[in-house]
Amino acid sequence: MKKEVIFGVGAALLVFLVKQGLDPVPFFLLAGAMWALHYYLRNRGLERNFETLESKGEGEFVPHVSFADIGGQETAKRELVEALDFLREEERTKALGIRPLKGILLTGPPGTGKTLMAKAAAHYMDSVFLAASGSEFIEMYAGVGAQRVRQLFSRARRLAQKIGKNSAIIFLDELEVLGGKRGKHTSHLEYDQTLNQLLVEMDGLRAEDGVRILVIGATNRADLLDDALLRPGRFDRRVQVDLPAKEGRRKILEIHTRNKPLAREVDLEKVAGETFGFSGAHLESLVNEAAILSFRKGKEEIGLEEMEEALDKVLLGERTDKRLRREELERVAIHETGHALVSETLRPGSVGTLTIIPRGKALGFMRPAGEEDRSLYTKKYMEEQIAICLGGAVAEEVIYGERSTGAANDLEQAARLARNIIATGLSSLGVVDEEYTPKDRICQEFQKIMDSQVKRVTGIIEEKRDRLQQVAGVLLGEEKISGPKLRQLLALDPEAEATRTPA
Ligand code: ATP
Repeated sequence: MKKEVIFGVGAALLVFLVKQGLDPVPFFLLAGAMWALHYYLRNRGLERNFETLESKGEGEFVPHVSFADIGGQETAKRELVEALDFLREEERTKALGIRPLKGILLTGPPGTGKTLMAKAAAHYMDSVFLAASGSEFIEMYAGVGAQRVRQLFSRARRLAQKIGKNSAIIFLDELEVLGGKRGKHTSHLEYDQTLNQLLVEMDGLRAEDGVRILVIGATNRADLLDDALLRPGRFDRRVQVDLPAKEGRRKILEIHTRNKPLAREVDLEKVAGETFGFSGAHLESLVNEAAILSFRKGKEEIGLEEMEEALDKVLLGERTDKRLRREELERVAIHETGHALVSETLRPGSVGTLTIIPRGKALGFMRPAGEEDRSLYTKKYMEEQIAICLGGAVAEEVIYGERSTGAANDLEQAARLARNIIATGLSSLGVVDEEYTPKDRICQEFQKIMDSQVKRVTGIIEEKRDRLQQVAGVLLGEEKISGPKLRQLLALDPEAEATRTPA
């Protein structure tokens, strides 16, 4: 309608100008320039094609991902499905007078599957799915973000109506950018207006025009969110999406190896055990890297070797071309063997692999063998951990008479553990609050913990000094030693002796 009026007025103006004997060209040039400016602002500034909206065919608006494609996260899935069932069984919830659910907040570390969950929710509800990230709303011009929020909601409604669905899910990733506490930003006017608009849209959500909208927000910093967002009636439900436990990791690995030729020797249960602390995204990347390595080697299956190498790569990064001098390489071998020797002495069977192949920032490393996931740590466990961290530096000290800068990371880690022992009341100071305890007492206790572990590790390494040098020699020749082989060497198994490469 608007366009017809503009064309009508334009044509009348043209006739009028010609009749008056005036040249219409400058007027049309000016009108053209104004139209171009308006078009630019629409596309670059005010309007934004949220990528998931416009780029797909109509059949693509409901995601194909289902809850069966999400490994682990059983509690999160259960809570989410329960919340979605409120919406599916609208009549029953209405009969009981339950307030309709408008928002669900998914919180948890990056890569744990929050986006997947939101997509699976849309699949479960047979809803249109629209996604946008918090940062897409924020521009330097005040009012732009608020307008984008309005557009997003109205587009969700339009789309659902267009393809005949009665619900839509709007997924807002990085919610903390858009929904951070108000008044905290330097350009807070724009941020506040955007958040206010989101609150207004959420408050106005009804089953308008036959379309019910559910907002799913995701963040890994729920503490930064404005309280108004978390108030009942907005993001009513909070679902925690945590890093997967061992069983969850095995299921995620199964999902991502479904369409890949895996050699029979690869035991996913074992891989799951070795990947403590990995998110779903890490596990997906692990399997993908292993497949790439098999491809590079011209293999038709993904074998154990590729899995192990991919694990190192995901943990530490790509191999580097760093060329070390011979003395440096020898020192790295002694250092890494030091960690391994202490680790095997205190916790037999605890070393996964030992290598001096540089990766990322590491010149070499010892990867622990998989063990059961832990949620609690005893003092004994943490002290052993400190000892293992110190093993590298102390081995250098015993063999070369001095340490090197290579131990910086280990020392940081050891110091963190010692501070944790004190803070959790496990040290000889008993239960203390660091704020109210004199600093020198804390420092003395810290030093006491460190000194006793240095003494313990020095004892182990001096006693097994020859063994340390022998194993380091093998490591220097072979660049990588597996856990079982290391244990053979440490026990000085005659068979292992025969395969030893001289240093
Ligand atoms: P971010 O907070 O960084 O946005 P996210 O929590 O939204 O991350 P997703 O984008 O859902 O994480 O996950 C990234 C990828 O990791 C997925 O595409 C999928 O391949 C894999 N992934 C993560 N979690 C799982 C899981 N539980 N099951 C299967 N795959 C998973």
